[in-house]
Amino acid sequence: MNNESKKTVNLPKIIKVKEFADLIDQPAAQVIKVLMENGFLANINETLDFETASLIADEFGYAALPEKIDEKRVDVITTEQLSEILSQEKQTGRNLKTRPPIVTILGHVDHGKTTLLDTIRKAKVAESESGGITQHITAYQVPVKQERRITFVDTPGHEAFKNMRARGSGVADIAILIVAADDGVKPQTLEVIKNLQKGKVPMVVAINKIDKPEANPEKVKGQLAEAGVMLEQRGGETPWIEISAKNNQGIDELLETVILLADVLELKADYDRKALGIVLESHLDQRKGAIATVIIKTGVLQQGDSILAAEATGTARQILDYQGKRIIKAEPADPVVILGLDNVSKAGSVVQIEESRSSAKEKAKRIKLDQDLLVNEDKPSVKKISDSEEEEEKSITKFNLILKADVEGSLEAVTQIIKTIKGDDFEVNILTQKVGNITESDVQLAATSKAIIYGFKVKTPEMIKQTAEKNKVQIKNFDVIYKLIEDIKYEISEALEPEIIRDDLGELEVLAVFRTEKQKMIIGGKVTQGKVLNKAKMEIYHEQEQIGKGEVEELKHNQDQVEEVKEGMECGITYKPIGPMVKIQTRDVLKFYQEESKKRVIE
Ligand code: GDP
Repeated sequence: MNNESKKTVNLPKIIKVKEFADLIDQPAAQVIKVLMENGFLANINETLDFETASLIADEFGYAALPEKIDEKRVDVITTEQLSEILSQEKQTGRNLKTRPPIVTILGHVDHGKTTLLDTIRKAKVAESESGGITQHITAYQVPVKQERRITFVDTPGHEAFKNMRARGSGVADIAILIVAADDGVKPQTLEVIKNLQKGKVPMVVAINKIDKPEANPEKVKGQLAEAGVMLEQRGGETPWIEISAKNNQGIDELLETVILLADVLELKADYDRKALGIVLESHLDQRKGAIATVIIKTGVLQQGDSILAAEATGTARQILDYQGKRIIKAEPADPVVILGLDNVSKAGSVVQIEESRSSAKEKAKRIKLDQDLLVNEDKPSVKKISDSEEEEEKSITKFNLILKADVEGSLEAVTQIIKTIKGDDFEVNILTQKVGNITESDVQLAATSKAIIYGFKVKTPEMIKQTAEKNKVQIKNFDVIYKLIEDIKYEISEALEPEIIRDDLGELEVLAVFRTEKQKMIIGGKVTQGKVLNKAKMEIYHEQEQIGKGEVEELKHNQDQVEEVKEGMECGITYKPIGPMVKIQTRDVLKFYQEESKKRVIE
């Protein structure tokens, strides 16, 4: 069957078998059968991921499409959802207008990123009225020919940005890869190329420093080809320009090339909706309070809008453009500074506009909870039978850490031992391991990847301690290896869910049911197996199917309150529901158990 003649069905990332069956108008049993034929064992309450569900949909003649995100129903927009919303907008949006491209400059250290950014800024941005004291905000916009503009985002070298790109949240549309003609392709250049290719970010190559006598652009082109970057006129599609950032040579051509590429990419945004943006940087100012630099990805931000940016909320009391001038509204691709938030928010957080300050506040409170929920909801319960044996349904807790040590030798020793800490349900990830004191970029990385920083015989400068505190990052320093290792194990055990040990007690057959108050039911029955304990938990079975859960709130035998009733005896149980209250009927069976939670010990 070809795709055009197929019916389509919109599926969420995760869906219950039953809901899926309803969507494709099939009995659940039929769906379960087809799932089994395809190697998936599932019951109607289990969940399928998009991939599995679309495979099964296909079997029923449906083409599966990702579910549209209904922004009104999404409380707090995550970076992933933001990119989905933007791509939906691109496909279906109506009021779209061309917006400026957002561009970032990347390359090996000393190849001229800063110089190029400065040269462009000086050549193109008229000095502001405030006497040219352009604050260094992490982004600015330059005018180019025919009323077009380009937004440049200064990517601070810190890892937070690397992380954002890696997660594909894509602040920038286009990257300028800068390579010095006298130095050629270097390890960091290769790293950048790898990341851009992975994130599918289009690039323009700027071969810099061609004013230098030892410049060898041809050699650079050869090295780029080796690294998989095929340049235009050399059989590839990547545009390139030779420049001298220092002497302002080739800069206009570079900007025009960026615009040409932007046209090919058809970068558009909705100018009729409320803004969505991304926080580039934010800090606390003694006098002005929290200050956030934000890039608008779509829509319009107006002065006075109620804002939610991760845990920060507020009103856009003042909006400043990249020159520090007050403006009353900002449009797509505009970099702006927002004053009026009650807190700093992490680089990469989504900025969204709310109906009111109070709804923003309420959502900010829920944001943590929602994040936790998202993590759980993202995991389908149904897996292919063949791999379900090894990777049961257990979720793996990732424990991220950053390791700094005084010398290479101890760094290696500590790393070796950390690598031996293993478990079925957790994974220790050493994000970076380096010799040297703890730095700002360690803290940034720790903040974005929720890692703990471990130092072995190293120092933490006071300023870094403060940044860490502000970002709620833990720094732990040790002088003795085994203490450091013990601490890692302790932190892992804290991060893991405690082990729940279940102790089955016994079963009861329901002989009579008396309803008392609204939320209470008294069950009369006979213990057919084992025993019942007061306060025990219970599962309720109707015709062998579990229909609910509860707790023994009160246990009675011959009108007396008792703690235990043994097999063969009759008793009365006050049923307290766990989850929804279910209707218990005679002949139903109650299975009793106790649960004990035990803190995990990491060997
Ligand atoms: P970054 O580390 O990539 O930001 O590099 P910088 O912009 O700080 O440049 C490193 C050095 O290269 C500085 O001394 C610059 O003056 C120099 N530089 C940058 N661009 C050029 C150029 O086009 N020609 C020459 N001769 N030097 C340059």
